[in-house]
This record gives sequence, structure tokens and C-alpha cells, in this order.
Amino acid sequence: MRVLLVEDDEPVAESLRRGLNRYGFDVEWVTTGAAALSHEGPYNVVLLDLGLPDSDGLDVCKALREGSDVPIIVISARSDETDRVVGLELGADDYVSKPFGVREVIARMRAVMRRAQPRAPSLPESKPARYGARLSIDRRAARVRLDGEEVRLAPKEYDLLAFLTEEPGALMSREQIMEAVWDANWFGPTKTLDVHVAALRRKLSKAITIEAVRGVGFRLVVNEGGDGTAL
Ligand code: CA
Repeated sequence: MRVLLVEDDEPVAESLRRGLNRYGFDVEWVTTGAAALSHEGPYNVVLLDLGLPDSDGLDVCKALREGSDVPIIVISARSDETDRVVGLELGADDYVSKPFGVREVIARMRAVMRRAQPRAPSLPESKPARYGARLSIDRRAARVRLDGEEVRLAPKEYDLLAFLTEEPGALMSREQIMEAVWDANWFGPTKTLDVHVAALRRKLSKAITIEAVRGVGFRLVVNEGGDGTAL
């Protein structure tokens, strides 16, 4: 599914883009209203910020709606109820206030897509990505399988695994991980990260090794074939 993300705030856009990628969405990111209106698509849903550098997002919403039925979700720091009402009157399908979590945005996107295409056949088959011989991750469905059997992960365990497997073998700092998986602006203790790493090690030791690099962070390594004696 392709998402047109209209957002001029780079950290917000980058964190949302990465989050949506982790769940299997393709993100086309533009930073102005003009770029949004001239984007040729195709895309399945629009995430639209209201405070844009060149125009008011509400005008962009109206113009988009005049040209197409694509679902539009307004994402905005404006908490003013008027904006919400006007946005919906101008044709937006839903409204999410900042700060928001990526899961909330995805839930809203799925809801508006369902309403937009009530008779659409089920989503196209997703292709799980494979990591070594034993582990597969279906990002669209957020399902993890080990030797073909589904592994039950808590939501943050899944997010952490999805993040670390974006680039197997890469060293990720604790700050990068906290920022990507927990919150865009995390300054607190990172003990929760260790707890989640321990859970993933326990559940997936046959397929992956999560190496701790003292004072820096973690590196996920896919086990070669093997009988799962790593760790
Ligand atoms: Ca903005």
C-alpha cells in the first residue's frame, strides 16, 4: 500500500516513514502543499499535515478532495476543535492529533481504507521476508514465524525485531533504537530496551543472535543454518 505523506517537519516525517515501512507500507514523502497537489501517484491514502510552509493544509485537503476520492487523514499539532471540524467538512476522512504513535496512524489508515473500499477483495498476498533458514517476518500482517510456526510477540517486541532486521548485522545505538521503537523523543532510561531484547533472544534464539555492544547498543545477526545453539 502506498502512502502519500505531506509533512514539512523532517523528524516527524522520518519517524513516521520508518514506522510505516516497518509495517510494509511504501511512503512517498513530500514537504509542501504544491508538491502534494502535483504528485502523480498512485497512492492509496494521504497523510496530511495542516501547517505547511507554502499553504494551509486545509486548502490542500479541499483541492485534493476536488480531484479524487482518495482517503485523507489529517495529522496535525493543531488541537483546535475548529480545525478538526473544518478538515472533516472539507473532505478529510479522519484526523489524528500530534503527538501520535505509528500504530494509531496505521489503525486509522486501515479503518478509512476499509470504509473507502467496502467491497474490495482481501488485500494482496503479502510476501514475508526471510532471515536465514528459519525466521520469516510478514511486515504487512506483523506476523513472525519460526520454522513455519507463528511466534507470539508483544507489540514492542515486534517493533524492535522489525527495526533490528531492517539491516541485519548493523550496529544500532540504544538511542537510535529507543527513538525508532519507543518514541521520537526519548530521553529516559532504556532498561525497557534490555527487557525486550531479552524476550526476543528467548523466543528467537534458534534463528537470530542479538549481540550487545557495551556502551553503544545492539547488533542483530541472523544465525547461519545451524541448530540454534547460539547465545
Ligand atoms: Ca508542519
